[in-house]
Formats: sequence, structure tokens, C-alpha cells
Amino acid sequence: MKNWLNVSDLHDFSIHNLPYGVFISDGRPTLCMAIGDHMINLRKAAEIGIFGSLNLDISVFQSEVLNDFIATGKDSWSEFRAFIQASLCDEASSLYTYRDDVLVNRLDAEMALPLHIGDYTDFYSSIEHATNVGMMFRDPENALLPNWKHIPVGYHGRASSIVVSGTEIKRPSGQTMPPDATQPVFGPTKRLDFELEMAFVVGKTTQVGQQVSTTDAEDHIFGMTVFNDWSARDIQKWEYVPLGPFLAKNFASTISPWIVTMEALEPFRCASVKQDPEVLPYLQYQGDKNFDINLEVDLTPEGSNASTICKSNFKYMYWNMAQQLAHHTVNGCNINVGDMMASGTISGKDEQSYGSMLELCWGGKKDIALSDGQTRKFILDGDTITMRAFCQNDAIRVGFGESIGKIKA
Ligand code: MN
Repeated sequence: MKNWLNVSDLHDFSIHNLPYGVFISDGRPTLCMAIGDHMINLRKAAEIGIFGSLNLDISVFQSEVLNDFIATGKDSWSEFRAFIQASLCDEASSLYTYRDDVLVNRLDAEMALPLHIGDYTDFYSSIEHATNVGMMFRDPENALLPNWKHIPVGYHGRASSIVVSGTEIKRPSGQTMPPDATQPVFGPTKRLDFELEMAFVVGKTTQVGQQVSTTDAEDHIFGMTVFNDWSARDIQKWEYVPLGPFLAKNFASTISPWIVTMEALEPFRCASVKQDPEVLPYLQYQGDKNFDINLEVDLTPEGSNASTICKSNFKYMYWNMAQQLAHHTVNGCNINVGDMMASGTISGKDEQSYGSMLELCWGGKKDIALSDGQTRKFILDGDTITMRAFCQNDAIRVGFGESIGKIKA
């Protein structure tokens, strides 16, 4: 699509994308939208009056997080996106007139957490991941627990420790039971891992007691981001019975600075794998509910080169987002704008697509080879984990940017 910034349709932040974020402008978190290597300062654009013709209440752009904008609803998101797209293609637009006032170089910008995240839920929706972990942690013969194909299994995570890409992560300490030991010990985790996930952002609030059907679920989803659910496997192994993950997971999760809208993802909609056995009626759905999103993970040792150690795809998910949301609300649990719901680790069938080091090194039995000759089983201090996500077809590309986190002792 021809635009006056000459951003290619195959750029991660092409005109077909237009993701939202928050950057620091004059010391203040400020809403923005990415286009190519630039971004639009939405607060300043609103102040200049560029959005004067829209129905939108432009005071939402005075906020330091996206929540108020998201709360204006799906029709507003759509109107705003169409307006920006048209403005970027029109040299008679006010956006063009004021371009020097509102365009910022994205590549040097300091990004901030784009949302107030009230609640965070983590699902466990990749059948390959659940099978692999079940084989290693429990029983190779009965890797999937009996409920797994009937329930989109999840747990309530901790929103307080979700951080934006670039934030350093301190290696967590905790209690573990070493192999062959009879007493637990305390110390820094020896099995620090990533989990390659995508997360969606809730776009519409519900009341306690209200259920969201699979048909209506997508009206409640604003967009998606890349999500690294950092995990300490030795802590997890000792603590997870019987109530599931706790301190092994809640010390940090890293998101990409950009929220890609569901409208931008529409060209990449695809079918999910067939669910067998058939699920209960409230989890059944019509149409294609999955998305073809390429995922990659790099590990970069301190002072060395990046090695891509995983290539996966969001379309491998057994449970889709509509089912996750229908399940989450079926008991009347309410959801709020800005809540984050992560997919669970996304692994595919082949070994290169495993979305965690636990799987890549098969519980510590294999070395993961890096391009500089080093090997890893789990993450060492000084290592940086970079996750990327992008959709691409013959004509256009829509990228999510990167979730980057470096581990310090
Ligand atoms: Mn997880």
C-alpha cells in the first residue's frame, strides 16, 4: 500500500500492522503507534487536533497506558486504524501536514509497559508442550492428564511482575529438592528457562456472573503481544504439586512493547487442529479461530553472537483464544480491559519447534548447540533471550517486535 513514508508492505511495522505502544517522551509515558522505523506520538497528535474529525474521545490519548483507549470499544479501534491508514496514504492529510511534530524515530525510543495489567492468566494450550512436559515430569505412558483434552487448562499468574522488553531479569532464588537429596535446599535456580508464548489483551470488560461465548469472544480481544513466561524448572518441580506453578513462574514475564490488533491479524486467520474427543457445547466454535504467527527464539551469550534455538508457530495451539475466554468466564469470572491472557508454551511436533529449553534439552539429557560453539541446557547469567513473532504472506508482513530479556546474577 503506497504511503508517503514509503514503508514497505513487507516491513514488520508495515501500514497493514499499526501496532500500539507506549514510549517515554519528555519523561512521560506517551501512547504511540508504530509505522516502519517511525512512530506516531498520539498524545501530541491529539493535542494538535489531528483526530478532530473522529467520534473518539481524544482525552484517552492523555493517559500513560492504553487501557482508556481500548475501553472506547471495537468500533473506535476500527475507525481510528482506518483513519491512520488513510492519513498515511494522503499528502493532504493533517497527519502529513504536522508530520515533523508527531513522528518520532522508533529505533532510539525508550519503550514502557503499554498497559495497566490488572490480572494475568496463563493457559497450557499446546498439546505438544503439555505432552513433552508430562513425559518428563510424570509418566511417559500417560503424559496428558485426563482433563487436558476437555478443559483449556490454565492458572492465575501474577500481573505485578510483567515487564517490557529490555528489562534485565534477576535470576530468582528459591527452594528446590536436588536429585538424590533428602532435604530441600535454598539458592539461585540452576534451571532457568524461557517459555515461548503469545498473549492476548482483553478489550472489553464483563460483569461478575457474565459468560462470554466462543461466538462473542473475539469482541473481547483487543490484540496480541509476544510473551516470555520465564520459569525456574527446579523450583517448579518441587513446588507444583498439588496446586500448580507458584514462585517458579511469578518472578518475571517479558512482553514485546507492541500490541498488534486483531484487525491487523485478520489476513492470517487459519484453522486449528481438529479436537478429538469432541468438547462440551460451551467450548465448541464456528469458523477459523487460529492465527498463523511465526515464532522464533534466540539465545545470545554475553559478548557473543545470537543463535536461533527455536522456530515455532502460534497455529499449533490445540485450544484457541475464543475457547480460552469462554472457559475463563463460564463460571461467571469477570474480565477487565487490559487483562492479559497468555497461551502457554507453544511447541510444535519437531524438536526445533520446542518452545522451552526444558524440552529442547529434554529435561537436561541433551546439549543445545549454539553457533559460537558453546552449548546450553538452561540459561546462564549474562545470556539474553530474544523472542520474535511475525505473520507473513506473499503480499504483506505484520510483526510484533521483540521480547528481549538479559539474565543477571
Ligand atoms: Mn507459561
